[in-house]
Amino acid sequence: MTGHVSTTAGSVSADELGVTLMHEHVAIFSPGLPDAYPHLYDMETVRTTCIDQLRAAHQAGIRTIVDVTTPDLGRDALFIREVADAAEMQVVVATGIWLDVPRYFRAREVDDATRLFVREIETGIGRTGIRAGIIKVASDEVVTADQEKILRAAARASVQTGVTVSTHTLASARTGIRQLEILDQEGVSPDRIVIGHSTEADDVYLDALYASGATVAWDQFGTWEVTDEDGAISRLGGVLMGPRSSQTVISMDNASFVDWEPEHAGSFLHLAKVVLPRLTELGVPPDTIREITEGVPKRLLAAG
Ligand SMILES: [Zn+2]
Repeated sequence: MTGHVSTTAGSVSADELGVTLMHEHVAIFSPGLPDAYPHLYDMETVRTTCIDQLRAAHQAGIRTIVDVTTPDLGRDALFIREVADAAEMQVVVATGIWLDVPRYFRAREVDDATRLFVREIETGIGRTGIRAGIIKVASDEVVTADQEKILRAAARASVQTGVTVSTHTLASARTGIRQLEILDQEGVSPDRIVIGHSTEADDVYLDALYASGATVAWDQFGTWEVTDEDGAISRLGGVLMGPRSSQTVISMDNASFVDWEPEHAGSFLHLAKVVLPRLTELGVPPDTIREITEGVPKRLLAAG
């Protein structure tokens, strides 16, 4: 029994995931704007760019991309499915909410959000029939009151469905610690938690994240947010020489299109071109690379 994973192509066996990127985005839009101002978007070009990048990723051996785009990042499940199908890439879509918690939730209870997330996992997103396979939550310097409501709802949805919670954090503020406290209060098992954006976590913070039992995502390789990538790769290499590899995933937080970064030119190839060869040079064995790119994602995504 290895469990099943919801993708845009339906439910697949976790054995079929292959090399998996745990924190990426097909495309990011300011929420509501493509519908409100369609003339601002050249969707044909956006579509082509997204398909081309997913195809290039597939050629590089990547078989599954976890798209952690939420409604407040303009998630469009039908668009994701369309480009995923065209590129023959397995894409897991997310439920949950990122940093910009919509005001709708202010007048609602935690469990109203829980029900919504569970519906997206069990029934599907809107009328698309596409089921979410990951729950995304986010906070920066602190977990705000609105974000805490979402985090608790995400936790309860995870406990009900077995689907993993994946977080956005600000490592310099060590936000993952507070997220872990809240997730623990709600009874989420650490093996259902990925603390994201930990690529430049300091040693004390990193130790605390790993000690919690959660998975730590080094998921910003190739982005401007990593100030010393070579240093980060060296520290990751050190981590991977020990037992913590079984709690580690790597990703790029790439998006093929971001409407507020019109010059943005993303790619899903930076790990294959730069990071993995460097890790190999540092002595990280192929089995460990396979563990963090296939084994750990498979365990995290298999939800029964
Ligand atoms: Zn992201």
